[in-house]
Amino acid sequence: METPQNESFRDTIGTINEEGGRAWVYPKKPSGKYYNKRKIVSYGLLIFLIAAPFIKINGNQFLLFNILERRFNIFGLPFWPQDFYLFVMSMLIGIVFIALFTVSFGRVFCGWICPQTIFMEMVFRRIEYWIDGDRNKQRKLDKQEWNAEKIRKRALKWFIFLLISFVIANVFLAYLIGSDKLIKYITGNPLDHLGTLFPLIIFTAVFYFVFAWFREQVCIIACPYGRLQSVLLDNKSIVVAYDHKRGEGENGRKKFRKNEDREALGHGDCIDCLQCVNVCPTGIDIRNGTQLECVNCTACIDECDHIMESINLPKGLIRFASEDEIEKKEKFKITARMKGYIAVLTILTGMLCGMLLLRNDVEATVLRLPGQLFEHKGENIISNVFTFKLVNKTTKDIENIKFKLRKQEGEIKMVSTAANFEVPAQGLAEGTLFIEIDKNKLKGDKNKLMIEVYSGDEMIETTTVNFLGPRSYN
Ligand code: SF4
Ligand code: SF4
Repeated sequence: METPQNESFRDTIGTINEEGGRAWVYPKKPSGKYYNKRKIVSYGLLIFLIAAPFIKINGNQFLLFNILERRFNIFGLPFWPQDFYLFVMSMLIGIVFIALFTVSFGRVFCGWICPQTIFMEMVFRRIEYWIDGDRNKQRKLDKQEWNAEKIRKRALKWFIFLLISFVIANVFLAYLIGSDKLIKYITGNPLDHLGTLFPLIIFTAVFYFVFAWFREQVCIIACPYGRLQSVLLDNKSIVVAYDHKRGEGENGRKKFRKNEDREALGHGDCIDCLQCVNVCPTGIDIRNGTQLECVNCTACIDECDHIMESINLPKGLIRFASEDEIEKKEKFKITARMKGYIAVLTILTGMLCGMLLLRNDVEATVLRLPGQLFEHKGENIISNVFTFKLVNKTTKDIENIKFKLRKQEGEIKMVSTAANFEVPAQGLAEGTLFIEIDKNKLKGDKNKLMIEVYSGDEMIETTTVNFLGPRSYN
């Protein structure tokens, strides 16, 4: 984006000082229209994030990402490793959606929806304001000697931060191992579950480190999504932008003086009060133009609007706008690039819906036993041996399972499995089976057979296998 200043600010990061050390950010406590809306969105999302692993639908945890046991629930629907293609498709949709969203509306996800920002700005930062006070009081406290007041405030703040980090770590664990198991561990003796207690302590330490110290650095240097901005944004993307045309005027910004005719002097509406800089949680000056560090939190919009109101100028000097809107007064319109993303997104979403509709509750895999071809049994019978695996994705046991051949005379014989067995809810059944076919009924040395899987009289799944016979029967 074009900027009114020189570009030297891009050579450094606002949170690193000249010696290369950390320049601590003490953002002013935000207030205003956008901040109030953000609070509603953030607390709604926080409730969802904390409650999701404890809500059950048909006995399934609402959201579960049990990587170790390879069990996943999304919106109460259980997914298995066999459904990995659905996961890949969802990821693709997610990536295209984020790209489309970023191309159109910049990094608004970061400021409004990302859990890192929500926890940092709406939980930890607010506790900090409550204990340490606003920006100036925080700076003063930081510089002051370790007296009784500082020790008391620091001890209280760090203790609360640690406690919240511990709670977040527990919720995180509920997503990974399941809320039932977590509650069982919490109510049991921790020493009986050292394998879980140890990761819990590590997660707590990581969350504490991130929210007590690392903070905005996550968005600036660790998050890959922030880096994507530079390739996705263009002059038509709507971002938090400073209206440099209006703010700088012909003769640049100037401090406010009462009863001065700024317009006649050619000065812009920016009175260089630096409130937009002071309120920024990533320590940048949005008047320099769109920057990688900006998480679109809108705190500077609220702050500048307060200033504009106080000096009787129209609000919106900093606002959601595209560079073309500021530069050429062009209104937002859907560009060819956005149309392309929307088309791809629609196709992918349609494919995912189709896959979800076609997804079976039971997944059968029948594979040839490695290293086995065929064997003769009696005079005319050819036998092939297979292993089978049946996955039950439902929350009910599936009983009375039988295999049958479709359109092929022959017999299926189970090895060490009852003829009518069951697959437990959300479990699997594995075993070995023989398929025996009269050699005169074979069409060649390779015969594609379809196996039907029944639960009682209901066919619940089909799968195919290759049945091998000797070449002489061709
Ligand atoms: S808050 Fe508004 S008026 Fe003050 S420096 Fe920032 S842009 Fe200029
Ligand atoms: S520049 Fe404004 S919108 Fe961007 S991070 Fe700073 S305060 Fe938030």
